[in-house]
Amino acid sequence: MQPRRLFVETYGCQMNKAESEAIVADLAAEGWELARKPDDADLVVINTCSVRETAEERIRGRLGWYRRLKRGRHFTLLLTGCMAERLGQRALEEFPEIDALVGTYGREGLREAVRRAGAGERPVVDGDGTFRFAARHSSGGPRAFVPVMHGCDNFCSYCIVPFVRGPEVSRPAAEVLAEVRALDANGCLDVTLLGQNVNSYRRGDGGTITFPRLLGRVAAEAGRIRWIRFLTSHPKDLSPDLIAVMAEEPRLCRHVHLPVQSGSDRVLAAMNRGYTAGGYLRLVDAIRGALTGVSITTDILTGFPGETEEDVRLTLALMERAGFDEAFTYRYNPREGTAAALLGDPVQEPLKLERLDRIIAAQRRIVVRRAGERLGKVAEVLVEGVSRRNPGELLARTEWDAMAVLPGDPSLIGRFVRVRLESLAGATFRAAIL
Ligand code: SF4
Repeated sequence: MQPRRLFVETYGCQMNKAESEAIVADLAAEGWELARKPDDADLVVINTCSVRETAEERIRGRLGWYRRLKRGRHFTLLLTGCMAERLGQRALEEFPEIDALVGTYGREGLREAVRRAGAGERPVVDGDGTFRFAARHSSGGPRAFVPVMHGCDNFCSYCIVPFVRGPEVSRPAAEVLAEVRALDANGCLDVTLLGQNVNSYRRGDGGTITFPRLLGRVAAEAGRIRWIRFLTSHPKDLSPDLIAVMAEEPRLCRHVHLPVQSGSDRVLAAMNRGYTAGGYLRLVDAIRGALTGVSITTDILTGFPGETEEDVRLTLALMERAGFDEAFTYRYNPREGTAAALLGDPVQEPLKLERLDRIIAAQRRIVVRRAGERLGKVAEVLVEGVSRRNPGELLARTEWDAMAVLPGDPSLIGRFVRVRLESLAGATFRAAIL
């Protein structure tokens, strides 16, 4: 019998990447093998993102491509993830090429959905409203993601995540530790614990294991896993205990992703972020004061309803003062059902783009300054693969979550090597093996 071939296409955040890995592992247990490209697959799973309108537009375009592919050959097309949850039945009406749809709480029914689609049905699997974590989220390799939380209770006014992923659920510590131990046994070296807001781990269930304590336990049981990271920290919830455990435990990588979104208190309040620019900068100072060599990265959103030139000036000033090692920048677009959607979208698109350009240009200058301070220094990097741009070079990651390219043999993939950081191309280092 011919093996059945699976292709998974993933959009959005690291959480989606981890969940896609879980889908691959789940279907592999039923004999599915990975196809190299969608044209070779018997089943295509699209794991979608709804966070920004632009992500949904890309997915809509991609569905059109699959519609045309379906004219020439038969395969099953399954939509899952946040956009599947958001649109539900509407997705089947809008996109006739979709054969099955699995929502946020339906993950356990995915195999069943594939079977029913194979039998000619068009199933919509919603689950029972209880989110259950998969047991494993990695199909191998030196680096893996381990979800510790799902959903979000924060309701930032612009964000659709609490609506499509539901309320916060913390994964039991025993399950997290079991997955970490399994990754260690499999030779994994770099693990990232994931959640929309990891610092509120077990906030809702009265549990005694806070996130800093969970990190301590993961570090204690990590075996040969050398690097442990976590994403994402909400500034209002990052505690002194977290900074203390990072300072004490050498396996915890010196990188904090701390989305600020805006430098204007007025905009932060309208976004329902729960902190001020001053409070945020005090946190940055505390982190930098306790953790030598730490990198702090952020997300910045411009064009929020009512954002003025003065608000943009405050954001640029905060960026300069915080000295972000990297910033993921994006422009606002309203998401259906969120509080901010009621404010309309008054900042015109050309103005949003012009503000975004200024923020990106400012961040480029800050990156040159911050990363420039590391040039000439020796660092340890974990080689992750071959560079996509130049197959003769390797791609590696530093402890502080920067990327480096270096000449070297692919046999180094999955190994730590010592390098000298020689120059910069954007935010990526060029390095030489010592
Ligand atoms: S913390 Fe705010 S921005 Fe982040 S997922 Fe929750 S609601 Fe969205």
